[in-house]
Amino acid sequence: MSRFFFLARRFVAGESLEAAVEVVRTLNGAGLDVTLNMLGEGTREREKAEDAVRQYLVMLDLIRDGALKANISVKLTHLGLDIDEDYCVSNLYRILEAAKEKDVFIRLDMEGSPHTQQTLDIFYDLYDSYKNTGVVIQAMLLRSPHDIFVLNKIGARVRLCKGSYREPSDLALQRMPNIRGAFLSMAEQLLQDGHFPAFATHDDYLIEGVARYAERLEVPKDGFEFQMLYGLRPGYQREMRRQGYRMRIYVPFGTEWMPYFYRRLRERRENVWFVLRNLVRR
Ligand SMILES: Cc1cc2nc3c(=O)[nH]c(=O)nc-3n(C[C@H](O)[C@H](O)[C@H](O)COP(=O)(O)OP(=O)(O)OC[C@H]3O[C@@H](n4cnc5c(N)ncnc54)[C@H](O)[C@@H]3O)c2cc1C
Repeated sequence: MSRFFFLARRFVAGESLEAAVEVVRTLNGAGLDVTLNMLGEGTREREKAEDAVRQYLVMLDLIRDGALKANISVKLTHLGLDIDEDYCVSNLYRILEAAKEKDVFIRLDMEGSPHTQQTLDIFYDLYDSYKNTGVVIQAMLLRSPHDIFVLNKIGARVRLCKGSYREPSDLALQRMPNIRGAFLSMAEQLLQDGHFPAFATHDDYLIEGVARYAERLEVPKDGFEFQMLYGLRPGYQREMRRQGYRMRIYVPFGTEWMPYFYRRLRERRENVWFVLRNLVRR
């Protein structure tokens, strides 16, 4: 284990798959669903992309054998999108083939805007053959209402989030009230015309808004799901479950935790304080 992993421990299940499996079992025991993600992005070495494929295949075996109640999220740049698109797609298809055979759902995470169109194009190409897949839409991007319209039309499952990458103002909303407004308007679009949408946020304002819309549109509590990140608001995750909502926890693991960890710190000052407190305690 790396010397500094203790800094990220709150947000990352562990550096190994074995450590993540323990976390998944605990969450499953509390009635929470899970999305497993092996950390890694912007991969430039084929060896790393191939290692990711191997680990995802092991995860699929564990899920199929009933050891875990989970689905999987992958980042295309982890599978080699920045090396070569065809190479990335061939890696992705190895995972999709195994997932199809084992009936496991695979979601493509959404990365920064230089990859948005490429990710959606790859998704549209694969969706005909692999219906057990979904994608992510970022509410902050100006293009997103149109993307949701198209995805709803083909019946695809969408995870809606605010978006965690810095984006320029010609592509993305910059102010939180506007991003929240866009999120809620797209949530309505998804509850009305979408297919088992997922709302990924820890923001009470949005969670309450989605719950209100769902009630008004008479979408039952099991007709959509909320999603949160491992380590963030764990008490609230369980409370939402007790209230009868579907709650899925995104559980990342692996040694390449720094970019993910950095995004969590950038998002919220309290997360920085938490890490600093831990540092001082040591
Ligand atoms: C399951 C999941 C998957 C994601 N996948 C992607 C992806 O593929 N691509 C991508 O770009 N982004 C992804 N994200 C990240 C997302 O885009 C946001 O950057 C991230 O969720 C922060 O936004 P937020 O709405 O959760 O809350 P924030 O904007 O961080 O906070 C808003 C408000 O929520 C409340 N809040 C937030 N956190 C806490 C807390 N820990 N304790 C108490 N109150 C809190 C506070 O009131 C806060 O003011 C994902 C997020 C989740 C949960």
